[in-house]
Amino acid sequence: MTALDNESRTDPAVPLLQTRPIRTRVAPSPTGDPHVGTAYVALVNYIFAKQNGGTFLLRIEDTDRARSTLESEAAILTALRWLGLTWDEGPDIGGAHGPYRQSDRTAIYARYADELLERGHAFRCFCSPERLAAMREAQRLAKQPPRYDGHCLKLDRVEIDALVAEGVPSVVRMKVPDFGVCVVDDLRRGPIEFEWHAVDMQVLVKSDGMPTYHLANVVDDHLMEITHVFRGEEWVSSAPKHLLLYSYFGWEAPKLMHLPLLRNPDKSKLSKRKNPTSILFYARMGYLPEALLNFLGLLLVSSSEGSEVMSLDELTKRFDIANISLGGPVFDVPKLDWLNGRYLRELAPDALFERVRDWGFDRARLVKILELAHARIERLSDLGELTAFFFAGRLPITKERLLDVKLPPADVRKALALAMWGLDAERVFDRSVVERVLKSIGETLSAKFRDVARLFYVAITGSPTSVPLFEAMELLGRDIVRERLRVALEQVGPPPSAAEQKSWRGAAAPEELAT
Ligand code: GLU
Repeated sequence: MTALDNESRTDPAVPLLQTRPIRTRVAPSPTGDPHVGTAYVALVNYIFAKQNGGTFLLRIEDTDRARSTLESEAAILTALRWLGLTWDEGPDIGGAHGPYRQSDRTAIYARYADELLERGHAFRCFCSPERLAAMREAQRLAKQPPRYDGHCLKLDRVEIDALVAEGVPSVVRMKVPDFGVCVVDDLRRGPIEFEWHAVDMQVLVKSDGMPTYHLANVVDDHLMEITHVFRGEEWVSSAPKHLLLYSYFGWEAPKLMHLPLLRNPDKSKLSKRKNPTSILFYARMGYLPEALLNFLGLLLVSSSEGSEVMSLDELTKRFDIANISLGGPVFDVPKLDWLNGRYLRELAPDALFERVRDWGFDRARLVKILELAHARIERLSDLGELTAFFFAGRLPITKERLLDVKLPPADVRKALALAMWGLDAERVFDRSVVERVLKSIGETLSAKFRDVARLFYVAITGSPTSVPLFEAMELLGRDIVRERLRVALEQVGPPPSAAEQKSWRGAAAPEELAT
């Protein structure tokens, strides 16, 4: 089947004979916290591979060099490992199809981009950002879909060579037909039609020679012999471009299934503005990995028959693509709490002790906590009240206590928001970063640091005085600190509006709006 050839398209109702060994992958972009959505996508790919005696691999898609970080990559690996979604090939363990990090594969993509150029499936585009912006604005006004207008398609060989010789920057774009329909056969949704004229002539190689996600993703799925791709529904509109690339290269495309996005209970897209989305937050809160996996699994398998408590093996046995519900699965924290409670109660006291120790009472952590508390106790029994906040998740803090500081209420709100965003923007989370971010808030508000610190003492430790704050925040870790700040912010007023975000953050992008 080729993407252009609708006539020869296989009827999706007739299952294709699977001739290749099943290989699936999860391909996260390391641009932030390891998201529960990544765990959900990884789980489907893992289960499908295991169910079919196949191979599941982890690939790091870091083509966005400005936003990708090694810290985020490491956190993703830690989080997936903690969940027990182990991969058979990946950047840390290698494999026959490596390397498994896209930034280590740039030479490979360049070869394939050249092949597309030579065969006339792609072209060099020299349009300036100004010209592209004007074109998009005109399309917006004319209510047309944003699409490259084909300006540089008219250049001939001599003109292209001259522009290259002059050093005019260029990108490589894929050619896309102007008419006709592309049919994406989604494994669960069935055929989805896209008009080619609404599909953009995607940039495949940026002006700095780096590939975009689209080229790298297709080349890698082919070279890594991926047979099935389960990924978030936000990628469905990319599928026509990908299928077209497969047909340009003459490769067999993997079968695709686009999973519904996880939702907040109000059905909005799961976002960290309303609830933590980092897998590591759930680890720090003391959810058991098997409970979180079971919870995510319930969004995938139908639990109408039998118990809702299912191990990964049972989930694997029960999984059936046909049963995946396409309605937005709700990330229902009370349900997760209930499941986690079930798992905890199953543990014998000794096993529970081990979990508790590993979670927050290991020797190294306790010694650090005692170091902080040492100067402030007169009896060992003072430790309970003084250090309880280290072993808690959210704290029951009221608006009155948060506002009971020497800062105007409006500044309390602003300080909490700035702390949350400021710490989010930092790659590293340690005492000196915390100190820098909190002190800069004092400066922004032209307030005495002592007054600002008191607010953060209340929000983070639950009390206006406690053990040294910066060290305590480092020990609590990024995820718990973020959640306490978020909850405190929620207590003192409505979430910052778009205008507030813009003016409080200064020139920084209002990322919070997008997440
Ligand atoms: N890197 C993409 C992501 O972060 C992967 C999309 C795909 O699976 O094709 O979700």
